[in-house]
Amino acid sequence: MDQIRIGKFIAETRKSRSLTQGQLANTLSISDKTVSKWECGKGLPEVSLMLPLCEALGITVNDLLSGERVSPKEYQKKAEENMMDLVKENSENRKRMALSVISGVNAVIACCALIALAAYVALPMAVRILLIVLSILVMASGITAAIMLDIKAGYFECPHCKALFVPGMSEYVAGVHTFTRRRLTCPQCGKTGMCAHRISR
Ligand SMILES: [Zn+2]
Repeated sequence: MDQIRIGKFIAETRKSRSLTQGQLANTLSISDKTVSKWECGKGLPEVSLMLPLCEALGITVNDLLSGERVSPKEYQKKAEENMMDLVKENSENRKRMALSVISGVNAVIACCALIALAAYVALPMAVRILLIVLSILVMASGITAAIMLDIKAGYFECPHCKALFVPGMSEYVAGVHTFTRRRLTCPQCGKTGMCAHRISR
């Protein structure tokens, strides 16, 4: 999925129909910020919005996902490519999720090992301090990597309007959470709630 290309295509098609971002957003009952985000290539429309969006723009979902008007001759081929892309995206999200857990666990192990070394092996004080600083750095980078991978793995689902979205880093970190849910504000309806983590759309 080429988000930049799809974004440009949405903008072009919208302008060719003399619609403003606000007018298009109104038709879909979403904020114009969401439309602007798509057009800048920062995120794809939620699946539930794809059909209404295509209807408003007079295009097909296949056109939308290809980022261009697909000719009847190429239609089947493009549809298959888009389908494979969606499947691939889901399996990449699964890999990211596993990687996120692994890097988090690695960071904890490395950190404990360094602290144990600093505490139990006879070393000059300066080396001990260095080891402790190093262990904190290892921990921090491991946790950052785990968080970034986790944010990228899939989507969060709004409990109110069922919209799927990817939260920003700061909101994600600040959100109260359990293993599968996190308290976030939905960009679609603006309500805050415990959002479930979903790997695929
Ligand atoms: Zn919502």
